[in-house]
Amino acid sequence: MDVWRKCGVCKKEILTGGIYQKCSISTCRKSVFCSVDCWSVHDSVMGHKSAYAEEERAPQNTQQDSDRPRRRMVVSSSKKSQDSDLPIDTLIVISKLKAYVKAKSGMNTSGDVADELSKFVRVIVNEALQNAQGEGRKTLMARDFSNIDL
Ligand SMILES: [Zn+2]
Ligand SMILES: [Zn+2]
Repeated sequence: MDVWRKCGVCKKEILTGGIYQKCSISTCRKSVFCSVDCWSVHDSVMGHKSAYAEEERAPQNTQQDSDRPRRRMVVSSSKKSQDSDLPIDTLIVISKLKAYVKAKSGMNTSGDVADELSKFVRVIVNEALQNAQGEGRKTLMARDFSNIDL
């Protein structure tokens, strides 16, 4: 079984097909809790007046995962991105990168390294975007990067 989501309070992993609790308040529906105890913590933090925990079963497979094969960092060597209208600008500050490589190892950095690294950045950002969208958010946040496997 895979990890479906993490408890909004204790961050314990909730597995696909597992039982979880959700808050009865509609604006809290994107949060999930591993137990009624964790939901109670949420309840007291949020100061709900008449909320209760609803037991639910996590989906066996998340939609996103089922139509997208699980893959590791595979970056196409082609310069063209999959969606051809997406910008493929260099996302790395080459001067900072060169300074880092120099300080770390005394080595020089060739100019095409930044483009190559940018591909990795795009792959990681794409993954993180799926996490953010999975939670119904419109803002990409640092925590969307926390459970990306590299
Ligand atoms: Zn919990
Ligand atoms: Zn709530």
